[in-house]
Amino acid sequence: MTATSRGGVREAPQGRRVASDELAGDDRYSRQSRFWAIGPAGQERIRAGHVVVVGCGALGSADISLLARAGVGRITVVDRDFVELSNLQRQLLFEEADAVAGVPKAIAAARAVARINSSVEVRPFVADVTAANVEGFVAGADVVLDGTDNFETRYLVNDACVKQGVPWVYGGAVGSTGMSMTIVPGETACFRCLFPAPPPVGSMETCETAGVLAAGIVTIAAIQAAETLKILVGDRDNRSPGLTAVDVWTNDHVQAEGRLREPACPCCGQRRFEYLDAVATSRTASLCGRDAIQVSPGKAQSLDLAGLGHRLEATGPVTVSDYLVRCRADGHEMTVFADGRAIIKGTSDLAVARSLYARYVGI
Ligand SMILES: [Zn+2]
Repeated sequence: MTATSRGGVREAPQGRRVASDELAGDDRYSRQSRFWAIGPAGQERIRAGHVVVVGCGALGSADISLLARAGVGRITVVDRDFVELSNLQRQLLFEEADAVAGVPKAIAAARAVARINSSVEVRPFVADVTAANVEGFVAGADVVLDGTDNFETRYLVNDACVKQGVPWVYGGAVGSTGMSMTIVPGETACFRCLFPAPPPVGSMETCETAGVLAAGIVTIAAIQAAETLKILVGDRDNRSPGLTAVDVWTNDHVQAEGRLREPACPCCGQRRFEYLDAVATSRTASLCGRDAIQVSPGKAQSLDLAGLGHRLEATGPVTVSDYLVRCRADGHEMTVFADGRAIIKGTSDLAVARSLYARYVGI
């Protein structure tokens, strides 16, 4: 599923027609290209750049806003979820109407970028990033940005980026704190050098248990966006040298010196890509910060959403859009996407979610 926003004639707020050549004038990026490390040549590299943002929640949303305004020419956004009211406190690209309509975040992000900077080409994908598709998303990117909320996806991104030699910028935030690290395969430590194994389930604070401040997230997104511009313009000397940790409430700021690459690292040391090679990927996952479970089919589908919606009408009210079908399933809200995934709200029980999926979707 792709959509593209390009220049064209559009309605100005006062009703005046604005031609695309007015929007592409020299003035647009003048304050940025005047900055000593960018200049006209750097601005051209930014325009020619392709950035892939994996996950479009709070971090990804702020990343995309900054990079679209900076004039990054192509942005690919991948996200598996849809907009809800509780997102609006921190997910800067989305508005109330997106939450009311339950628009997939990747689609809402593409629409927002079209309003911010119509010269940016956006490719939105409503999809879960898995071992089966992550290499395809990373291929051809100049930089990949981490907007995810879970370790499993970060290890997948790390494997794919190290394998293909694509730089990526890790980011994470919870409470008032956040962390970021720039990973350049062949030069810096990778994510697995730093975190060899995922933390035990339940051992980490989440946005659900500790809450999260938008200010902390946006601080990390700003660091990720700056690192992205440094990579695009080729300023190797000023890249962040290691792990950055910031607490916007207690004012702690830690810049850890870059740890050397770990020769025994399975990923960048031995080039064993264990997460990419994982034969069995989980069919169910609980979603961070949500009383909800995602159920995925074994392999991506291409559902006839209108047909599914029609069948589900027998069970009660059904909403069908171009991207999803929403219904009530035994008192739970179930949202089914065209790739066959479903998000079932109001339960944290994997078995309950799988059972509802089998009964209502039946893949
Ligand atoms: Zn490594």
